[in-house]
Amino acid sequence: MEDFTFDFPSYTIGKDAYKKVDEICSLYGKKAIVIGGKRAISKAKPYLERDLKKISIIKYHVFQGEASFEACDEILGLKELSEADMIFGLGGGKAIDTAKEVQIKTGKPLFTFPTIAATCAASTKIAITYYKTGESRTTLKMTRPPIHVFINTEIITNAPSVYFYAGIGDTLGKHYEVSFSCRGRELDYLNSLALQLAPMSAEPLIKYGFKAYNDLKNKNNTYEVSQIILDIIISTGYVSILIDHKYNTALAHAIYYGLTLQDVIKEKHLHGEVVSYGVLVQLVLDHKYSGEISEEEIKKVFDFNKSIKLPTCLKDLDLEGCDLKASITKAKNNSGLEVVPYKISEEMIEDAINILEKYNKEGCL
Ligand SMILES: [Zn+2]
Repeated sequence: MEDFTFDFPSYTIGKDAYKKVDEICSLYGKKAIVIGGKRAISKAKPYLERDLKKISIIKYHVFQGEASFEACDEILGLKELSEADMIFGLGGGKAIDTAKEVQIKTGKPLFTFPTIAATCAASTKIAITYYKTGESRTTLKMTRPPIHVFINTEIITNAPSVYFYAGIGDTLGKHYEVSFSCRGRELDYLNSLALQLAPMSAEPLIKYGFKAYNDLKNKNNTYEVSQIILDIIISTGYVSILIDHKYNTALAHAIYYGLTLQDVIKEKHLHGEVVSYGVLVQLVLDHKYSGEISEEEIKKVFDFNKSIKLPTCLKDLDLEGCDLKASITKAKNNSGLEVVPYKISEEMIEDAINILEKYNKEGCL
């Protein structure tokens, strides 16, 4: 076996998480450049100014727009970047992904400071890039993930709850999609580890998600909110780092990509929201065609979605009566369905959608 190194990001979570920055980052130097969204910087700056004594932030670069090559080039031209010992990526996925692009180009150590809990971008080593127009471009890979993730729960609790809502929906997919894709396969060490960890992204959601979402809406920084933040940013990120790309998504995300053909989805619905509906379609399909998923499991996820108003039927996505043929074809051809336990046809997807509609009305499969 060839020599192999694997890196996980470590993390600090809490209302005073930034108090750990000095201790952890001073091993890498004294000067940092922040790359962050405007709102994120305005929220985080008072904490950074209060808590950092050994590390000086020599520039707050306000990132706007898309995580594009152009946004990265603009930062590469900054003299403060060449002076900085390290990069702090601050904000949501796009700002952090831009900081990752800069890390890839410069090799400087990257630390992340998520200010919303909507995705696992803060802990993974991939940067999803876009054209300036918003169209997706390519996915870049860092040689190692960010060194440490600083999660300030006070900032995240005070962010708009819609990010948290979408984060919960997207995270729900991780366990169900990974375990579906991996079923019956001979897995190597890292993929086996990912599979063991995957339930950690669904179980806390079902257990704490309802209370956490309501606490966050009321700006209460509670234990349950922290558990869900960890779930969205850390558990899901760790599974993503460990898992082979081909096992990372399955039907839930394929349904999402298929439904993006519908204007109403692009205009009115969030990625994570649609993925959580896709999870239900996947479970219903798997229940019918393999028997591996029990009706109780479907009910558990269905009730959870209902409890926080995540979609469970086409009406919830404003798709009742819409022609879904093209969407189903696109879903069927999605790369997430290349590695699944059995061949999935368009008829099977349509069937699962219809069974789920019936389940919504009658409460039985
Ligand atoms: Zn997703």
